[in-house]
Amino acid sequence: MKKRVYLDYSATTPMKKEVLDEMLPFFNVQFGNPSSIHCFGRENKAAIDKSRTTIAKTLNAGVDEIFFTGGGSESDNWAIKGVASALKNKGKHIITTEIEHHAVLHTCQFLEKEGYDVTYLKVDKYGLIDIEELKAAIRPDTILITIMYANNEIGTLQPIKEIGKIAKENKIIFHTDAVQAYGNIEMDVNELGVDLMSLSAHKVYGPKGIGLLYIRKGTKIQPIIHGGAQERRRRAGTENVPAIVGFGKAAELAYENIEEHSSRLIYLRDKLINGLTEKIPFVHLNGHPTKRLPGNVNISIEFIEGESLLLMLDMVGVACSSGSACTSGSLDPSHVLMAIGLTHETAHGSLRLTIGDYTTEEDIDYVIENLPPIVERLRQMSPLYEKVKGGN
Ligand SMILES: *Cc1c(COP(=O)(O)O)cnc(C)c1O
Repeated sequence: MKKRVYLDYSATTPMKKEVLDEMLPFFNVQFGNPSSIHCFGRENKAAIDKSRTTIAKTLNAGVDEIFFTGGGSESDNWAIKGVASALKNKGKHIITTEIEHHAVLHTCQFLEKEGYDVTYLKVDKYGLIDIEELKAAIRPDTILITIMYANNEIGTLQPIKEIGKIAKENKIIFHTDAVQAYGNIEMDVNELGVDLMSLSAHKVYGPKGIGLLYIRKGTKIQPIIHGGAQERRRRAGTENVPAIVGFGKAAELAYENIEEHSSRLIYLRDKLINGLTEKIPFVHLNGHPTKRLPGNVNISIEFIEGESLLLMLDMVGVACSSGSACTSGSLDPSHVLMAIGLTHETAHGSLRLTIGDYTTEEDIDYVIENLPPIVERLRQMSPLYEKVKGGN
């Protein structure tokens, strides 16, 4: 079979076998509705509670502070719309950043149309916010700060603890989208000082369509899905029991060996970064050199088109992402790469390669061997590159 190398773990991860095994009985054998009084229901209620307890432990959160949702996007929507609705009489100002995931950015843009006022903090060339700018943006009517933990494109980690402290001093609710950080770094909601945190299972070897919102006890937030009394009356709808069970198992596995997991990813990441930057001229790393996700490599390769590169990599079996929002069918450069100051051309020549648990050293060597000649071939078609290379 043709060699295939998956380097798109930030887009999604395969489910671990242990996760799938744990889930299977809940599709047919153990199918009861957790709200039912009979044993079929009670057993499933217990399965949900077990999963909730496991996940709460990984966050040092209370079991009653975990609320399951339909994924990371729903959690982000809930956090932002839920606080906006609960505190609309107190104020209508929200602070976020220019580099958030679309689940946060588009929700904020929606609220702007509804009469809310949003400040989008800028980031520096590494993708970091400026704490002083955050302080200066706070107003008497600020009701929410929402800043992601780890960026999904460039991997930069924000100073969440410092932001948490500032939010607390100013009595403002603090939400973080920690979808990419979870399972890759250790986190403690109390140490971080967050009030709300979004997570998603399919980024940590769990199933798709399941996530959660951590809600610190006492945080003012309205539901966005109304109906039955599930999730302690805060998120209606019959629970996705197999997915919740899978999420719990994935969380358990992720934190069983977190240090070994992340140091392995860091080793492979740095090997890939060094290999590519040594072999390809006019390449640079995007994101912060050290404050970054263990498995994230994002590079800009001058004088090439990221889309052509993706297609040629796909032909040799390498799956990764480029620097444009191609998911929407458009070729707009990524808002994150624009925010860190790249030109349109450079953003288009960017690649995101994300490493995960099933990535081998052989995979990394394969990319280091196969990517440079592809870049060279594409560059031969670039008149600009010929000029630069010729030194005139
Ligand atoms: C994937 C992702 C989401 C969305 O999660 P879904 O479960 O796919 O809805 C939100 N934020 C970040 C940072 C992500 O990487």
